[in-house]
Amino acid sequence: MNNLEREIRALIETQGPLEVSRYMALCLSHPKYGYYTTRDPFGMSGDFTTAPEISQMFGELIGVWCAEVWRLMGSPSRVALVEAGPGRGTLMKDALRAAQVMPGFLNAAELHFVETSPVLQEKQRETLHGAVPSIAWHGETNTLPDAPLIVIGNEFVDALPIGQFEKKAGRWHERKIGLGADGGFAFGLDPAPLPDFEKQMPERLTPAPNGAVFEQRDLTPISEIVSRIGKCGGAALFIDYGHAESGFGDTLQAVSGHDYAEPLEAPGEADLTSQVDFEALAALANKRVRAIGPFTQRDFLTQLGIEVRAEILQRNAKDEMRDEIGTALTRLIGPAPGMGELFKAIAFAHRDLPRLPGFDGAKISGDA
Ligand code: SAH
Repeated sequence: MNNLEREIRALIETQGPLEVSRYMALCLSHPKYGYYTTRDPFGMSGDFTTAPEISQMFGELIGVWCAEVWRLMGSPSRVALVEAGPGRGTLMKDALRAAQVMPGFLNAAELHFVETSPVLQEKQRETLHGAVPSIAWHGETNTLPDAPLIVIGNEFVDALPIGQFEKKAGRWHERKIGLGADGGFAFGLDPAPLPDFEKQMPERLTPAPNGAVFEQRDLTPISEIVSRIGKCGGAALFIDYGHAESGFGDTLQAVSGHDYAEPLEAPGEADLTSQVDFEALAALANKRVRAIGPFTQRDFLTQLGIEVRAEILQRNAKDEMRDEIGTALTRLIGPAPGMGELFKAIAFAHRDLPRLPGFDGAKISGDA
């Protein structure tokens, strides 16, 4: 039994079963034993590989996106360039190199990282050493400066904790984690029903059938960013795996060593995520801030010119590298089960911004 398992067991024994959201938060971000708190999980030797770790093209295109958004904002003399959950810092390193094409942008940009993991903060410091004059780290979004901002977050939202709810005999109950008959952790339902729970769902999903599971994510960091954009101007871009429309289903998933793991076993030793509900994200739009998208990752990266970028890189590469670039391109924009369709991009933009690169033809919410 690991330390976190011992601690969670004691919590259940004294306070009763834990919400899935509480369990997820402990597994990922416990100050001593959390998954991200204790390790760098990325890459071949780690647990999973993210888009910026697959190819430099991903970060480069996002860098150009940021620079172009800054230009569309009217090239302000100061802009907070914010990344939420920067991982190893690879995306930002590639982004800053590519953003040099936009004169003035890097002089105006002040770098802010939202990152809870001390191990990853250190890794980010190493990766960006020499690339920027300074980086400010934040444990939460509420300490970001009151300045126009451009925010990016790749695979950040999927790590925000979700609550799970299930309909049984006509009533909704929260799913909780308690101790099962064999003494291990087990899912169960809180006996107290939640009246009016269906009012929080899109109407087309109701009345829900018995057995339906609904996931609700704590989007506080994202709503914080959206209200800051409303107040100070700017835009945000989030890319993640998930579904364009809200629906039912248990999507909690543990991944370890590039393979699926059991979410209730060895807490804190596997990555724990769930699919992002992009309809719920888009619903954060308001009178001042529009939500644009979601677009599939393929549509977004293709509009930004990833195929042209791949061709240029291939032209300048040696034979084996040429194949590698082609493989990376297919991984990033390929159809399901590839990332091109599974992953989606959504943006938030202050309504003063006329349009955003990469989202031509995308759905716009919050235009009221
Ligand atoms: N963007 C990176 C890493 C994605 S993994 C990439 O694409 O490779 C998720 C990242 O978010 C990690 O850096 C993790 O430490 C951070 N993170 C997770 N939950 C967080 C939270 N609640 N607040 C701040 N950072 C968080």
